[in-house]
Amino acid sequence: MTEQTLVIIKPDGLSRHLVGRIIQRFEDKQLQIAQIKKAMLTQTQLREHYKHLIDQPFFPSLMAYMMEGPVLLLIIEGENAVLQTRKLVGATDPMEAEMGSLRGELGTDKTRNLIHASDSVDTADEEIARFFAN
Ligand code: UDP
Ligand code: MG
Repeated sequence: MTEQTLVIIKPDGLSRHLVGRIIQRFEDKQLQIAQIKKAMLTQTQLREHYKHLIDQPFFPSLMAYMMEGPVLLLIIEGENAVLQTRKLVGATDPMEAEMGSLRGELGTDKTRNLIHASDSVDTADEEIARFFAN
């Protein structure tokens, strides 16, 4: 089924100049970019986006990381886009992510793991509305 999902290329993806390589992997998998924009995320957006993690000890460093520079927000579209994108991105901890995944190949740190991808169709709808409302 054709779906849309939200991808965020996190600040280190931009500062490490990995944007082209990351987007290439989505295109290689026949996923399309429906919308794309560069933005600085706000504290308010991030507290909502990561509300399931607010009580975690790493939450302050996660917030600082996500605000250390601009991010790239993408709506990715295609067959089974939500699951396909999660598989391409790989497990949260790059040390556990499969080597063929983006986090497995390019990441080294459990917080600074380069990319966000929505975890379900419902979450994707919520996250797309949050970041592409205007
Ligand atoms: N995170 C972290 N430490 C952890 C778990 C998560 O710093 O032990 C960060 C990491 O940047 C991750 C984000 O919090 O991508 C959101 O966590 P979630 O469990 O939703 O993982 P994801 O869906 O991004 O794989
Ligand atoms: Mg998540």
